[in-house]
Amino acid sequence: MRIVVARRVSQGFFLLLFFWFCLVATVGAGFLQLRGWPINWLLSLDPLTALGTMLATHTLYAPLLWGLGVLALTLFVGRFFCGFVCPLGTLNQMTGWLARLTLGPKDRAEDNHPGRAQAVKYALLAFFLGCAALGGLQTGLLDPLPLAFRSVNLALLPLADPGVGVVHDAPRHYEGVWWIGLVFLAILALNAVLPRFFCRFICPLGALFGLAARVAPWRIGKATDKSCGDCRLCESHCEGGCRPSGTLVVSECLLCCNCLDRCPSGRIGFAGRASAAGETALPDFSRRGAVALLAAGAAGAFSAPLWRVEDAAGLGRSPLLIRPPGSLDEERFLARCIRCGQCMRACPSNIIQPSVTTAGLIGLWTPVLNYRLGRSGCQPNCIACGQVCPTAAIRPLGLQEKLGQGDYAAAGPIRLGTAFVDRTRCLPWAMGRPCIVCQEVCPVSPKAIFVREVFEPVRGGRLSLAGARGATLALARPLAVSGNAASGDYYVRLLGAPEATPVRLVGGGGTELALAAALPGAAPGREVEVLIHLMQPQVDPARCVGCGMCEHECPVSGLRAIRVTSENESRSGPGRMLA
Ligand code: SF4
Ligand code: SF4
Repeated sequence: MRIVVARRVSQGFFLLLFFWFCLVATVGAGFLQLRGWPINWLLSLDPLTALGTMLATHTLYAPLLWGLGVLALTLFVGRFFCGFVCPLGTLNQMTGWLARLTLGPKDRAEDNHPGRAQAVKYALLAFFLGCAALGGLQTGLLDPLPLAFRSVNLALLPLADPGVGVVHDAPRHYEGVWWIGLVFLAILALNAVLPRFFCRFICPLGALFGLAARVAPWRIGKATDKSCGDCRLCESHCEGGCRPSGTLVVSECLLCCNCLDRCPSGRIGFAGRASAAGETALPDFSRRGAVALLAAGAAGAFSAPLWRVEDAAGLGRSPLLIRPPGSLDEERFLARCIRCGQCMRACPSNIIQPSVTTAGLIGLWTPVLNYRLGRSGCQPNCIACGQVCPTAAIRPLGLQEKLGQGDYAAAGPIRLGTAFVDRTRCLPWAMGRPCIVCQEVCPVSPKAIFVREVFEPVRGGRLSLAGARGATLALARPLAVSGNAASGDYYVRLLGAPEATPVRLVGGGGTELALAAALPGAAPGREVEVLIHLMQPQVDPARCVGCGMCEHECPVSGLRAIRVTSENESRSGPGRMLA
């Protein structure tokens, strides 16, 4: 099989695998949904994730060893990952190819001429590694694998969800996803400017592979330096912009192998020796190049205050910053999260959202819980997000640990935060309207929401009696309440008898009221007051786990009358509520 055909087969296979893993990273009853598919395998092949998390945490999460294996292989055969595996590279290659269908070989060769600007990606790599060493892990912003997963998971697949119906049974929404989609589209569109634009100029993972490829003994190159026909057909199809017809820029070769295939005289080969026509590499490690790289790394390391601009401004951490269950404490979380969006895709409640402002600049597109969006709160029997996180930024919890049962009974359940009732917006507290939704939906047993029962006089509910017969009262004027008087929430009591037990209204209208029992002391000329029975919710912080069911279901739209904030969250340790 020709090497180019093998490369295309490999690219097609890994691209389909990538889309398959995105598609099946959902929780549901369908045969394709989260049935033990190794959906993080492609992400764990990424050595930049391994290196970044190692620098940021001084530990290596075992599944990321795959990435170090890929880097080790690159040290021998060059950037095979870019040419044969990377799904974003394949998409770039396809769009670049489409954009150049009408170009002749000369124009194509011009597009593929190597340029010093290709060294920019090495500066970006140095910057991100500097960040990881001191500031926080930001590689996921431009690392092609998390970027591709995030874009497809959050921007593309939700477009298909409602129509296709097999992906999810209900449409999904992600906050601020336009920006994620636009970045992805821009990356693809840039291939119209130059082929594989992102790979050549921006990709920090490609830069890491480029550094490794410098020392790879096996590489593309000319077998002889004798002049060839100078047809430059090899260059007109070179994806990396690495000049195979002359002095090869060895670090830029993506192993697309087009030059091998195109050379009419078979002068180019893949062998364990340097190209006979000469070699060079980017970045140039002369004094200027090295200084530029060091400066980029130092800029990354010392950019920590910029990423934490909210802290510098004294704003502190937003109380709305609620992370998925099992998340590490904030420092360690930011040192691990690569913003791949796997947890957001997997969450059946659609409450894990990419942070736009909640987690600050340093946490852009990291997962935060938003109980206003989505389909419910965090479901008690779900632990999907921790199971799919490729870096253990969200620990893979078991159900017992999440619920605080069995071996974890002493530690108690995982708390995401605490619900607070806003008495200025809560219907029973602020409006004198009955509502008990939050208590009903609270999944904790015994419930974390308990109620204070009160009987409050209703507006216009003071009435004179025209008569009283058993459990029926005749009124001097009709009763006018804004709700349904027979709903069971309304009661009647003699005016001036606050100690008397109110009697429930069960029916009637106009000038006649039906009660559940006779009202003691009722007689013509006496006055009664109509009361509404209210159950005013209160939260027991010792029981609340911050699952957000109450906030999600609260009928006060907009700013809910009960809201969860991060106080008392397990990941910050005990006592945060009072601190
Ligand atoms: S555990 Fe909660 S937050 Fe995590 S995926 Fe399940 S419902 Fe979503
Ligand atoms: S927390 Fe979510 S976005 Fe971050 S690495 Fe884990 S799965 Fe990806």
